[in-house]
Amino acid sequence: MKIENPYAGLDYSNWLRGNLHAHTTASDGRAPIQDVINAYATLGHDFLMISDHDILTNEDDYAKLDNRGLILIPGNEVTRNGPHLLHVGADSLIEPSADRQQVIDAINASSGFAVINHPNWLSDFNHCSFENLAAWSNYLGMEIFNGVICRLDGSPYATDKWDRLLSRGRRVWGFANDDSHLPVVDVGLGWNVVNTKERSVEGILNAMQRGSFYGSTGVTITAIEITGNRIRVETENADRILAYQQVGSEFARADASAIDIEVPAKAKYVRIECLGRGGRSAWTQPFYISAE
Ligand SMILES: [Zn+2]
Ligand SMILES: [Zn+2]
Repeated sequence: MKIENPYAGLDYSNWLRGNLHAHTTASDGRAPIQDVINAYATLGHDFLMISDHDILTNEDDYAKLDNRGLILIPGNEVTRNGPHLLHVGADSLIEPSADRQQVIDAINASSGFAVINHPNWLSDFNHCSFENLAAWSNYLGMEIFNGVICRLDGSPYATDKWDRLLSRGRRVWGFANDDSHLPVVDVGLGWNVVNTKERSVEGILNAMQRGSFYGSTGVTITAIEITGNRIRVETENADRILAYQQVGSEFARADASAIDIEVPAKAKYVRIECLGRGGRSAWTQPFYISAE
């Protein structure tokens, strides 16, 4: 059995925390961009991407502001004409064609990568349908948690659609973002914790491409180790940890802050979800399994 480990070579002193989805008064956010940056700096985040609707915030825009110590990632949220997606690490604005595959391809041909947003937003829990997610290819990831949906219709979580994709053998990383529009209420709900020695936009984006990060709403993972056919995950503050394989099937659990699981013989992928007090969670990326 071969277990692909996106966390290979983890350096435990180099975790960077940040949010890739925040709006400002340039689109429908309520706070001006400098206030949004200040709010995330106060939170203690290391990086932030401003993602206004079909409005690019690039390096030149950031250069006019006080970064307050944050690494600021250029980007935008592709919004018009279809399901929303983030263009992370954008160096130009991609025309929001109704053909979202065309948008994703254009993003991959320019710079950065695509992350599908809040799939389970709206009263039908279906802003982005599973059929779309299955039909499109070459997007890096999807939001498995989107904070603003906590106060809107639908569900902030999308691990259901994620498990269905992973079960089909698709490779999609899970992201947790705020999608903040309002100051305070929407800030600090979800974030990504990235393992990289390089404190730069490039370092963060490269680590995300590799899957060397996890999404969190408040649980901190302190170790992820693979030995033979076993995966061990340790946390600072989980009190229940669940291990899933296809098709979203839980095969192990521990009512503890750590778990040590044996990968089931027929697993196609394994992912681990760590639950803490008050609904806090952390989600590892999937470990893809293949027969050797
Ligand atoms: Zn959106
Ligand atoms: Zn948004």
